[in-house]
Amino acid sequence: MQRRDLLKFAGAASALGLGGCAASSSGTAPLIGQANVARVLVVGGGFGGATAAKYVRLLSQYQIDVVLVEPDADFVSCPLSNLVLGGSKAMGDITRPYATLTARHGVRVVRDTVARIDATARTAVLASGATIRYDKLVLSPGVEMIWDDVAGLRAASQQGRILQAWKAGPETAALRRQLETMPDGGVYAIAIPEAPYRCPPGPYERASVVAAYFKAAKPKSKVLILDANEDVTSKGPLFKRVWAESYKGLLEYRPQHKATGVDAATNTVKFEIQDDVRADVLNVLPPMRAGAIAVQTGLANSNARWCNVNWLNFESTAAKNIHVIGDAIQIASLMPKSGHMANSQAKVTAAAIVAELNGWELDPTPMLTNTCYSFVDAQRVVHVASVHAYVAAERTFKPVPGSGGLSPAPNEQEAAYAFGWANTIWADMLA
Ligand SMILES: Cc1cc2nc3c(=O)[nH]c(=O)nc-3n(C[C@H](O)[C@H](O)[C@H](O)COP(=O)(O)OP(=O)(O)OC[C@H]3O[C@@H](n4cnc5c(N)ncnc54)[C@H](O)[C@@H]3O)c2cc1C
Repeated sequence: MQRRDLLKFAGAASALGLGGCAASSSGTAPLIGQANVARVLVVGGGFGGATAAKYVRLLSQYQIDVVLVEPDADFVSCPLSNLVLGGSKAMGDITRPYATLTARHGVRVVRDTVARIDATARTAVLASGATIRYDKLVLSPGVEMIWDDVAGLRAASQQGRILQAWKAGPETAALRRQLETMPDGGVYAIAIPEAPYRCPPGPYERASVVAAYFKAAKPKSKVLILDANEDVTSKGPLFKRVWAESYKGLLEYRPQHKATGVDAATNTVKFEIQDDVRADVLNVLPPMRAGAIAVQTGLANSNARWCNVNWLNFESTAAKNIHVIGDAIQIASLMPKSGHMANSQAKVTAAAIVAELNGWELDPTPMLTNTCYSFVDAQRVVHVASVHAYVAAERTFKPVPGSGGLSPAPNEQEAAYAFGWANTIWADMLA
């Protein structure tokens, strides 16, 4: 970017009144940010949001004001969180601070929750009452559980009886404690919703590392996978091979088990067709949809679950100047809901936003990449990778034929790659 363009842009933004804070609706609520500077507001500091915040700052040569709103004090990574459940990693290993985003990149991180977005006025109201004016909004709120699809689950989850731990954090530690206190000879069952859901291989990775923990520490115990899908949705042959070779008699896979309800008093899960299953530790994942703020803002215009976007800039098809990325979007063909994909989408979006605010052409041929490592125990990993290119004639992303690949078998070398991947992507987002 040329410095003169940025200056021109900053001046234009000021002259056109693009930047700055709107008066708050109450007239008394605090306002955030300075006037006369173009502002990107990022909602959610996960894989998509943190990356977008940093890259808008970088690609605009620090000329665009970026405010990131996130309720959590630190970033806690879902990737590698299954290793906390397996006992080979601790919460501190998957937790990183937001401080460097501010210190090094000048992102203003506001610890709060966006309660309401007014797409017409281009303002967001925070739970604390503050109002933030934006020129562009990046929404990366992750997923929300559709509690009502599994009767009794919301209450059982709120009571801490039947957990999900599908957003890494306190629930990850709580589920680990349930596994630790479970007696040897007990049963851990994970129920998987129909795809699409966050991280297709995640539940199978979790079942595998919990089985590895049981094998070493509680060998009379059992892992049950209760899957609403017809078959394993990701890396199927690799996982099945590990289950047959390493966890025979310890791990059982049951397809076509769609959970419809739970009974927290008896720790039982009920299904559409099959008999109820009782387990000592129940980990029930309901169907998922775009994070609540996306649904509430009217952006979930694909089956009332996911957000349709224009693939060239990830702008919502329901609201101008709101760019939705990460797990919340309606995916293109074979596009996973993964942290790597959210990070990749964030960079395309950041570049598009910087271009649009400068009046430049959008990149007509954006590319996205994905690599997903799954642990099958504390030492061995399998991966799947893909490259996705924008196909102008069809206005969508498609996997590039011949790109990517799959591990031939679980192996220890890829565990080193997986840790390297995690450290690199966390640094790419936050450092
Ligand atoms: C067990 C598990 C293992 C996984 N393993 C991998 C892996 O190995 N590789 C991989 O690539 N992916 C993996 N994933 C998937 C990955 O974690 C997600 O795809 C990724 O987090 C999506 O990024 P996101 O930005 O959409 O959502 P998130 O990372 O969840 O970030 C959303 C953020 O938005 C915040 N937020 C929500 N609503 C609001 C609001 N109203 N106001 C302000 N903030 C808000 C939330 O607090 C949250 O921090 C795994 C997931 C799980 C559960």
